[in-house]
Amino acid sequence: MKRRPLIVGNWKMYKSIPETITLVNVIKAGLYKVAGVDVAVCPPFTSLKAASETLEGAKIDLGAQDMCSEVEGAFTGAISPLMLKDVRCRYVILGHSERRKIFGETNGEINRKISTALRFSFVPILCVGETLEERESKRAFEVVKEQFDTCLIGLAASDIERVVIAYEPVWAIGTGRTATPEQAEQMHSYIRRLLKEKYGEVVSERVRILYGGSVKPDNIALLMAKSNVDGALVGGASIKGESFIQIVTNALPEPLLEPVRR
Ligand code: PEP
Repeated sequence: MKRRPLIVGNWKMYKSIPETITLVNVIKAGLYKVAGVDVAVCPPFTSLKAASETLEGAKIDLGAQDMCSEVEGAFTGAISPLMLKDVRCRYVILGHSERRKIFGETNGEINRKISTALRFSFVPILCVGETLEERESKRAFEVVKEQFDTCLIGLAASDIERVVIAYEPVWAIGTGRTATPEQAEQMHSYIRRLLKEKYGEVVSERVRILYGGSVKPDNIALLMAKSNVDGALVGGASIKGESFIQIVTNALPEPLLEPVRR
């Protein structure tokens, strides 16, 4: 079963509000005729409202890069699911390796965020992936299994269907060193097997598994050719309009050129 491809741009801590409006307009114009693929952009929190307004009328969704597991209260600096609803986010990236490493996020916290995201009808994008040291010591599969098991504790099969998983080997993020399509496929098929063992075949076949780590216009097609790679989470190359447009276009074997409006 082939799932509908999904390409997500993680803008990280880049782009002011005026820059966001410019970039969203470029992406909107460039993807106006491309169909057959879901596309989302995840600007920083301060740019979400401007991005949401600029995306009006486009078939491109909005996502956030993180979210608090609590709904409201004394959580200085945090952003609640209600605030993300206000600006019409559909996706929320959770457990990105930069959040894990720099901000000390644990699998347990990520699990709570995923539960909250689902309760508020967001599509959580759960990031998993091993460091270089873990890969070199042959622990990549064990690490990803631990992240998978703990981050998804307590969720029912019907919840899992709505989750997107992004396999992002830490050694490939922002390094220019992309996993080979074979390395990506090996881990993606492993994740699909974990999904099948825990939630059954039907659910495992529905979950989209994205690859992330130095995705570029010239490597996306070979990654997408693998049967368990359903799309990409793109960092650096998503904040340049032309490269993001090319990644989306090259992700499809034969892009359908139909204007689609939401
Ligand atoms: C990311 O930040 O999720 C990412 C994959 O970054 P990059 O594409 O720059 O490696």
